[in-house]
Formats: sequence, C-alpha cells, structure tokens
Amino acid sequence: MIPYKQKLELMVNGVAITDKLKNHLLEKIGKFYNDDYVTTTGVMLEIGTNQDTYVTAHLNNKSKYVLDLENDEVIFYNRKSKEKTDTTIKIWEPSPYMTQSKLNNNGEYFNYVNSHFDRARISPISGCSFSCAFCSVNSYDYGLNELPPMDCALTNALQDERVTHVLISGGSPKECDLPFLTTVYEHFPQKFANYDFDVMCTPRGFTNYTDKSQYRGYIQHLKDIGVKGLSINIELFNSKICAKYCPEKFGIGNSNYLYFLECASEIYGTENVRSGLIVGLEPLKDTLRAVEEICKTGCMPMLSPYIPYNNIGKFPTVEFLLKAKEKTDEILEKYNIPLAPLCKKCKHNTL
Ligand code: SF4
Repeated sequence: MIPYKQKLELMVNGVAITDKLKNHLLEKIGKFYNDDYVTTTGVMLEIGTNQDTYVTAHLNNKSKYVLDLENDEVIFYNRKSKEKTDTTIKIWEPSPYMTQSKLNNNGEYFNYVNSHFDRARISPISGCSFSCAFCSVNSYDYGLNELPPMDCALTNALQDERVTHVLISGGSPKECDLPFLTTVYEHFPQKFANYDFDVMCTPRGFTNYTDKSQYRGYIQHLKDIGVKGLSINIELFNSKICAKYCPEKFGIGNSNYLYFLECASEIYGTENVRSGLIVGLEPLKDTLRAVEEICKTGCMPMLSPYIPYNNIGKFPTVEFLLKAKEKTDEILEKYNIPLAPLCKKCKHNTL
C-alpha cells in the first residue's frame, strides 16, 4: 500500500499494539505514546521505505492494523491476513522529558509542553474559555499557566535534539486574558531565538477578539517580536454546524476570520500563515468553500480529519478523505497555493 493511503488508514482505524511489543516498549522507553489532546493522542509512526510519511495513530485494540515484536524488530501486519504488510514502519519515541512526571516544585505535572515529532507545543493556559463540543481541552479547569514553569518545561523539551521548532497553542483565553497571551508570545521567541515559533490563535487584537481595527496592528506586533508563522483555524465553515459545535468561534464569525487571514497574508506572506479545517464534520462542499475562501486571502489551507469525541460524529472514511484531498488540490492549483503544513512531520495529523 502506498504510504499516504496507509497513513489515512492508520488515522481513521488507529493501531493495535500487542502485549509483547507494549511490554518491550515500556521497558525500553517508558511511555511510548502521547495522551494529550484528542487531536494529538496516539503512537507516533514513521512509515514508508524512505520513512518520510508521519502519522499519529490512536491506540485501538480492535484496529485491523497491528504492531508486534519479532526478533527485536517492530513488525506491522493486517489482522485479517496475518501477513506482514509491505509498509516499513518505525515508532518515533516520545521525547524523554515526556516520561518524567515532575516538572515543578509541587510535585505536580502540568501539561505546559508536549512534543509531537520535531515540534514542541507550549500551552499558555490550561483548559479553554471556549466550549467547542468535540474538544477535550475545555474539560480541564481554566487557568493561566505561569511563565517560569513553562519556560522550564520548554528548556527541558529542547534538550531533545530532534525538536526543531515550537508552536504556542493551547486553548483560547477569556478576552480579559488576551494581554497575558501577548506576554507569552513576546517572551519565548526572544529567549529561544534559535528556534522558529508559530502561534495558533483565533482572530484577535491586543484586547479584543472582534475589533477588526486592532487586527493589522496586532499581527504586525507578532511579526516584530519574532513570531515566525500563524495558524488561524477556521475549522468549520457551515454556519449552522459551527454555531452548534463551536458557539464562540461562530460568534467571532467567518468574515472576521477571513479578514484576519487577509491581513496576516499581507504582513507574513502566504507560506507563513495557515488555516485549519476539520474534514468530516460538515458536508464536503462547505469545507471546499472554505478552502477556496482561504486561498483568496492568500493563506494556506490545512485539512485535519475529524477525530470523534464526546459521542459527536464518526471518523471520516479513507475514501472521503481522499476525495477531500483531490478536490482541495484542484483548488490549490488554481490559486498556486500549497497545502499546509509545509513541515512533513507536522502533517502527522493532517491530510
Ligand atoms: S477553541 Fe480550540 S481548544 Fe478551545 S475548545 Fe475550541 S477547539 Fe478546543
């Protein structure tokens, strides 16, 4: 099977890991998978002969794809045929710091930083003030994370030489906490100047989510303080579906998202601004409309297959994902815009 199709199969079916392999991994590396947000939880895999296709596969005991151990090598087979697949597969070991349980003096582990392949992610707040129904982040209590332990956690994460860039992400703050996020954005890119920092956020200004007059100045500020790129995720373009599942994002509105993206592309250029869309929770025609609108702003669309949570929806089928990719490619070609993200490893949970 070609690595790309295999990647999609793993995304939607997940992978089963035999007890033999599990015990081997636990002994060798400790925790061998991520269990943070619903979109990044699972075992990180490099697949294909060139091992240049990356995927995070959720753990699923019933998956038709099985990882096992044979002669000290990880093998991969289809449960039905019991035959090894022709796919070369390797487990990407989580950064050693992620198996540590204490990062601060209270002896508690706060999820300040997590690494996914070559990228570390900082979460400046715990929880989220938004209530998107399919998201696990807002199930944690809302609060601001203090800078010193975040800094300590990132310093720790960067000791893993495989980590080459950083995303400041996490949930969306209450409007009154927007300035705090700015202090976080100001701190990290300046302190760790050898690394590229991207910021994932909703449209926002210095003090407000919806005051358009602040957008351009705020984006320019992010550029001036050394933020390398932006991820401004529209996610759902169908108004009814967005209102149902993401009321606060619906409140910000598609027109503010698109205006913010337009300003960002002028200030940052196409290849430094992306906007993620969830594929499989709304009709494909709405996702494709969004792809086209994002291209018109001069930014790059990014497609994230829907991962079910809270009993909402189902995993899209591989056929649906292939169709979404094919139709998106046609639009991208028309506008001569690449599909985000450009980093191969960061495509581990996108099309
Ligand atoms: S804004 Fe993002 S982090 Fe917050 S609930 Fe919605 S999807 Fe989750």
